[in-house]
Amino acid sequence: MFFDTTKYPLGILGPKNHNFVIFEGNVTNYINCLFLKPSMFELKAESGGARCGVLHTKHGKVESPFYMPVGTKAAVKNMLPEELYRMNVNAIICNAFILSLRPGIDIIKQGGGIHKYMNFDRCIFTDSGGFQVLSKTMLVDLNDRAIRFRDPFSGVKQTLTPEKSIQIQHGLGADVAMCLDDVPHYGRDYDYIAGAVKRTHAWAERCIVAKKYTDEKQLLFGITQGGTFKDLREKSAKKINEMKLDGVAFGGLAIGESKEQAVQALNWQLPHIDKDKPRYFMGLGSPDTILEAIDIGCDIFDSVYPTKNARRGTLFTGNGPIKISSFKRDYGPIEEGCECYTCKNFSRSYVAHLLFVKETLGLRLATIHNLHFMQKMIEDARTAIKNNEFSTFKQEFLKRLKPKAL
Ligand SMILES: [Zn+2]
Repeated sequence: MFFDTTKYPLGILGPKNHNFVIFEGNVTNYINCLFLKPSMFELKAESGGARCGVLHTKHGKVESPFYMPVGTKAAVKNMLPEELYRMNVNAIICNAFILSLRPGIDIIKQGGGIHKYMNFDRCIFTDSGGFQVLSKTMLVDLNDRAIRFRDPFSGVKQTLTPEKSIQIQHGLGADVAMCLDDVPHYGRDYDYIAGAVKRTHAWAERCIVAKKYTDEKQLLFGITQGGTFKDLREKSAKKINEMKLDGVAFGGLAIGESKEQAVQALNWQLPHIDKDKPRYFMGLGSPDTILEAIDIGCDIFDSVYPTKNARRGTLFTGNGPIKISSFKRDYGPIEEGCECYTCKNFSRSYVAHLLFVKETLGLRLATIHNLHFMQKMIEDARTAIKNNEFSTFKQEFLKRLKPKAL
């Protein structure tokens, strides 16, 4: 028996998907939805190219677009999990390879997995280790089979294969694992980057095979490469998109190219990514470029930029960043109207003093402010997308900001 779904839109509870789905289309849509793997990403609203959605993970839903603070070694520097929760941080990213060296996967596994070990009960992404290829002190060499690193702690050489990377990320219990990729330095020539693209694709296929033997609830994202070359970026986007992956990341960006080049690379790749896949710009943390990337359809971001800048005394405000050391006699908050703990309780002068005399409280107060700034900006962006006024929001935000200084 067939239903005329154009006359009688059907509502069912999607399998595993917890969501009530209304089918306004035809019978094919209905049947597809019954038998296909439910998407882990739901698109909720669009405003121009900007999107608002929900990523479903083992540790809850994360509303996109979102920015993830970086906790490379299982800690977001200077921050307690409770402080992150209070800022509505629902996802962070750790580095699986670094954690496999110290304290070691066995220790974290015995401690109940990464969430319990670091007492962070929300979504955790793990990077595969590919980014460490850029580290001159860590990289020994790489070929099609594997990457060899020098352990920065012991000096011992370690081999990382796509299979081992998946095994490590599974051992940690991450909600979202990343495929191992070959990240070339910015400025390498075409042939070199073409080789890195080819290797990244082959490694993604090996990661998919390796993942079949692990936890099916863990999501796996693929990573595209291609430097600043149009044909390579397009080829990589098409290839990673057609693989059976839960999301697509844009890698090898925010590593020295200009903001315009990064946005251009995204513009080349985004048209080739399915709309129902979450899109993750790896390593992007400057507020103005994040807004540009959201505007053309990126959903997820991570970077040490806000936290590192905070520790160095560069604090974000709606009128552009300030060097706190220039405000030793300013007794107002870092930013007037900011609702963060630091701005509600302390002055610019005090934070400048603490950072100058290297009191660790200064690092904490500065980090709290910059992370709050990022969270608030992204929350406001989500609201603007839902109200279909993102373009106006972006223009007004960027007019106030002084992007040259960022
Ligand atoms: Zn503040």
